[in-house]
Amino acid sequence: MDLISIMNIGTHIMVFLFGITIGSFLNVCIYRLPAGESLTKKNSHCMTCGTPIKWYDLVPVFSWLFLRGKCRACGSKISSRYIIVESLTGILFVLTFLRFDTIIDGLIYPALCCLFIAGLIVIGFEDYDTSEMTVGVLLYLAIVAFVTRVLTALNGKMFRACEISLADGIIGMFAVSVPFLFFGFVITPLIYNFIDEDRKAARKIRKRLKTQKLDRSEERKLEKTLAEHLSAIKEKGPVFGFGMGDVLLMAAGGLMYGWKAAVVAAFIAIISGAVYAVILKVRAARNDEESVKAFSFGPFLTIGLGIASFFGTRLMDMYIDFLTVPQIPVQ
Ligand SMILES: [Zn+2]
Repeated sequence: MDLISIMNIGTHIMVFLFGITIGSFLNVCIYRLPAGESLTKKNSHCMTCGTPIKWYDLVPVFSWLFLRGKCRACGSKISSRYIIVESLTGILFVLTFLRFDTIIDGLIYPALCCLFIAGLIVIGFEDYDTSEMTVGVLLYLAIVAFVTRVLTALNGKMFRACEISLADGIIGMFAVSVPFLFFGFVITPLIYNFIDEDRKAARKIRKRLKTQKLDRSEERKLEKTLAEHLSAIKEKGPVFGFGMGDVLLMAAGGLMYGWKAAVVAAFIAIISGAVYAVILKVRAARNDEESVKAFSFGPFLTIGLGIASFFGTRLMDMYIDFLTVPQIPVQ
């Protein structure tokens, strides 16, 4: 083995170790940010017995493996989430660096890609846990994407490994986010207005109250039913197919990875989300549960963006090639 390949392997081991350390911090973000807790203040402690965790039990990935996922003090199970997030971060960082020749391309662009992926991991798990995305993390993603695009535009030589142009990024910012905004906040509420029983009933009653002559007691009865429907509507909350978080996530993702990757990411997310919905429905039917619990779309979008960040542009080019009808030579 020559010196360069030994150095390369060494770099990737370093990147992995760095990645799992960042992953350990991401775990803290995923647990504390949605609760509004400080990221720096409190020390880590066992979720069951509350014993503070010693530094030597906080080594990412390895401590969990060494303790076989159990607390040293009380022996209760430590969530496998920790090792999953840590190793996922490490592996994705290594895969990102593998795409580039760091000796020629430098470290800055791969590092920016890793910073973005770190934010995606936090957003995905946050949304999975709480159905909400923290504004701070969305802002962080937007800033990383913005800085990446500006640096790429200013210094094409240093970022020659980056195949996404400024125009690609700007189009990408709107390519998916605008359709999401339109579907989420215009189309879906409109459709919902016509299929939701409470909304339909409330509309009917309002019309009757307005147009028909009713005696006092009848009117009072109708007003009471109307109030019931209105409170039921309020309890269900606003109807958004895509939340504002999804829209902003896809704007940042498009700016970072370009429009082709953004479109591919949306496709992957919608298809995998639909498959997941079917699985939930089948499982609910089998367990005789009444309805399917709503689930967040964010995790699917982050998975889509993650895959698209590696293959998005190539997949889209393949798709365009597939659609293009070959020219038949004229004889
Ligand atoms: Zn414990």
